[in-house]
Amino acid sequence: MGKALKTAIIGSGPAGMYTAGALISKCAECEIDILDKLATPYGLVRAGVAPDHQTTKNVSRAYDKIMENENVRFVGNLGLGSDISLQTLQDLYDVVVLAIGTPKDRTLGIPGEDLDGVFGAQTFVYWYNGHPEFRDAVPHLDIKNAIVIGNGNVALDVARVMLRTEEEMEHSDLADHAGDHIFNSPVQNIHIVGRRGPEQAQFSSKELGELKEMENAIPYCDPEHIPEDVSTEDKRRDKVINTNLGFLRDYSRNRVEEQGRFLHLDFSLSPKEVIGTDTVEAVLFEKNIIRDGKAIGTGEIIELPCDLLVTCIGYQMGPLSGLPIENGLIRNEEGRVDDGLYVVGWAKRGPSGTIGTNRLDSQKVVDLITEDYDGKVDPEKKGAAGLNDYCRENNIQTVSFEDWQKIDTVEQEQAAGASPRRKIVRKRDMLSLVREDAAK
Ligand SMILES: Cc1cc2nc3c(=O)[nH]c(=O)nc-3n(C[C@H](O)[C@H](O)[C@H](O)COP(=O)(O)OP(=O)(O)OC[C@H]3O[C@@H](n4cnc5c(N)ncnc54)[C@H](O)[C@@H]3O)c2cc1C
Repeated sequence: MGKALKTAIIGSGPAGMYTAGALISKCAECEIDILDKLATPYGLVRAGVAPDHQTTKNVSRAYDKIMENENVRFVGNLGLGSDISLQTLQDLYDVVVLAIGTPKDRTLGIPGEDLDGVFGAQTFVYWYNGHPEFRDAVPHLDIKNAIVIGNGNVALDVARVMLRTEEEMEHSDLADHAGDHIFNSPVQNIHIVGRRGPEQAQFSSKELGELKEMENAIPYCDPEHIPEDVSTEDKRRDKVINTNLGFLRDYSRNRVEEQGRFLHLDFSLSPKEVIGTDTVEAVLFEKNIIRDGKAIGTGEIIELPCDLLVTCIGYQMGPLSGLPIENGLIRNEEGRVDDGLYVVGWAKRGPSGTIGTNRLDSQKVVDLITEDYDGKVDPEKKGAAGLNDYCRENNIQTVSFEDWQKIDTVEQEQAAGASPRRKIVRKRDMLSLVREDAAK
């Protein structure tokens, strides 16, 4: 056995990829296996980022370069917990880095949340982005009114994707099954609802401003909700808030009519109950006043009708055997979980920040790893060879980076018109494509 630091990174999203990139440049000798439960790499870059935001997805080209490094290997279709245990991985590798994101929606914790027609953002976004585990999650969009709860960019993505026309989405990689529902949906009103005011909303100005470009939908905000411009010590934040207030003032000049499609931006409302018999029919909200940035209930209740409710209120870690979970995250100290076990990205810090935020975070954890493992590799660890044996013995068909490139090529070849790709959305179809190709 050599002196290389044998590392398994679990999860090929941005955090996993930046960890691999930083390890290659910091560690003179390392062998890195990047595992993912999916057959496709790059996590939320493929399955989260909105399908009409293709420029953001270009970051995957930088990740391709990391995957092509001679010391890096992609092992797709191998799930921690489902196909392989943490203990087995720790027995095989010097270092295991968990980069598994936060795979579960946070819930509102109010009555009626389990009615049909209520979805978490994860489910809804994964559905329209063609995540294989969510292909059939949203059965129809035969609806007139929808509510999206949350005041961040994910809420804007969900509403915008539902309202865009087929022509507007022609450059996107929206999954076919979702397009069939979305373009035929008679939806007329979508309300994006926040607990606090526009000054506290986490919308980026680019995404809020983009709403005015929708061809067949009009954004609207009640002028009553819009305060004067703010001026605080934090000039950078002030700039974002004041730009957003400017957009909301523009939207407040639009008119809501009987006919047409409208995106309402509502503020200072806390959800109290989801109403319906079998499926969702309305949501009861309590009106708030905002004091020192905090929402204070007034006791006044209003009812907003809806046939679909999507909650975009954040994500958390689900239970994963062998892992200490605390407050919805993997318990850690600056990224250290246990001897030889580390965590990065959303699984470490929670679901906030952009793709780029994960770069610095991963670099810091790699600094810890190199500090902890300075020349201390275990010659008995089998690494990649041991993982190959494990997969063979357990009859697991893994997906290599070359296999993914074949899937990628087929998706691009099958794309219609200006679309960059036609996503394959069943894992079995991806696996049989790879098998057929290997048999040629
Ligand atoms: C809907 C949405 C839209 C977004 N849009 C943008 C945007 O436009 N611009 C921007 O900068 N940021 C955006 N973000 C934020 C960005 O996506 C995150 O910062 C980033 O993806 C977090 O990286 P991560 O690697 O921690 O997690 P993830 O990207 O979630 O990656 C986790 C990886 O782990 C794998 N995995 C999970 N469980 C297991 C398991 N048990 N075994 C093996 N593998 C597993 C998953 O398949 C996945 O590949 C968006 C986020 C969301 C939710």
